[in-house]
Amino acid sequence: MNIAFHGAARTVTGSKHLITLKNGTRILLDCGLFQGMGHVTDKLNDYFGFDAKKVTYLVLSHAHIDHCGLLPKLIAEGFEGKIFCTPATMDLARILMMDSAKIQMQDAEYANRHLRNGEEMEEALYTEEDVIKTLSLMKIVEYEEDFEIEQEIRLKFTDAGHILGSAAVHLTITEEGKPTRITFSGDVGRYGDLLLKSPQQFDQADYILMESTYGDSLHKDLDPIEDLLLEIINNTCKVKKGKVIIPAFAVGRTQELLYALNGLELKGKLPDVPYYVDSPLSSKATEILKNHPEVYNNGVKETLKIDHDVFGFKGLRFIESVEESKALNEDPRPSVIISASGMAEAGRVKHHIRNNISNQKNTILMVGYCEPNSLGGRLIAGQKVVEIFRDEYDVKAEVQLIKSMSAHGDYEDLLQFLSCQDPAKVKQLFLVHGEYEVQQHFATRLKDNGFKHVAIPEYHQVFEFGVTIFF
Ligand SMILES: [Zn+2]
Repeated sequence: MNIAFHGAARTVTGSKHLITLKNGTRILLDCGLFQGMGHVTDKLNDYFGFDAKKVTYLVLSHAHIDHCGLLPKLIAEGFEGKIFCTPATMDLARILMMDSAKIQMQDAEYANRHLRNGEEMEEALYTEEDVIKTLSLMKIVEYEEDFEIEQEIRLKFTDAGHILGSAAVHLTITEEGKPTRITFSGDVGRYGDLLLKSPQQFDQADYILMESTYGDSLHKDLDPIEDLLLEIINNTCKVKKGKVIIPAFAVGRTQELLYALNGLELKGKLPDVPYYVDSPLSSKATEILKNHPEVYNNGVKETLKIDHDVFGFKGLRFIESVEESKALNEDPRPSVIISASGMAEAGRVKHHIRNNISNQKNTILMVGYCEPNSLGGRLIAGQKVVEIFRDEYDVKAEVQLIKSMSAHGDYEDLLQFLSCQDPAKVKQLFLVHGEYEVQQHFATRLKDNGFKHVAIPEYHQVFEFGVTIFF
């Protein structure tokens, strides 16, 4: 049996890990889209590195596009097996993949309308029809259900606390009478998330694929999120009479922001300005979260006792149409605009940033992880001039960052996630879903915690199970 790392290898997007059994059965863990790396991204998304037709099963850890965003392409290229995921992941994956298909078609159209001499036409990776086919292959597995995929392959999901429906994947594969337990962390959330429960403990594994996005940082802010938001909104909207533009993932960060703003209202502190969620996808995701109250942590359950709508408050409007979205640009009044995508690479927020970035009255507030080459990443890095839709803009608006709003745990969270394991019994730990430098630091930290065999696989690299790699 072997495993090949076809994405999220020394990088944070494109999650795709292929386990091949001796009998030829192939299990693909995630089938994510590469994002935020400019023109390189297109090339990476074009070629899987394996034959889609030969994949037997797919296990999906969660619905973020960098984990499920190439599923429709896998199906378009001939995959016909089942896709296993949690119920909430299925709900979310439906809207996120549909949105992804739409964004890709719109971006391709936009690029083709603005072609410059000698440039080739762009094509969308897949269509909404491919997404519909994908949905028909999805099969629900509940958290903690001991599910038999086939006689020698068992699957269990545990809550990873990262987004609604997110799971760590535990496979027990028996070959020649010998079981091998493989855990894939998926993306790991924080202990003490504003909305979600903390990641669950899990049984001892032989092999672990561990995400490492924040393997070298701690992101506890000194002040609570509510206080940070209050200060930024007051400074921008009340003192400077500007706008706060918040690029936020449609799932997770947007609802967390709404919950925090609602918390300010409950305390009577919410600044009296218009608040907009300008992303139809974020509106849908908010509805889905409202339909899954079972995932809320105790804090949210307590708030629900005094406020039946914990994601709604005075002054909040959900924007649907493109016309309304464009109208926000012509409205000079101070306001707060929450819009997707989180890395500011696509979606309506890119337009809002373009229209507001060169005015010092405004604030661009980043609230989650950004791939360094994405627009969000370049803003966080402090670039003074950025390219948006092929034109250059001076960055005069203030760029702020609330670190603790990441959906990913920091290294203390990641170590806590692994604390249920006896490191001596883990034969190999593979670091995935992280930047290489960060992974090297995290590997050292893991070794200090008793995990002797830590590997950092390269893109397309194959490892035989049972052969220990020393780094
Ligand atoms: Zn994720």
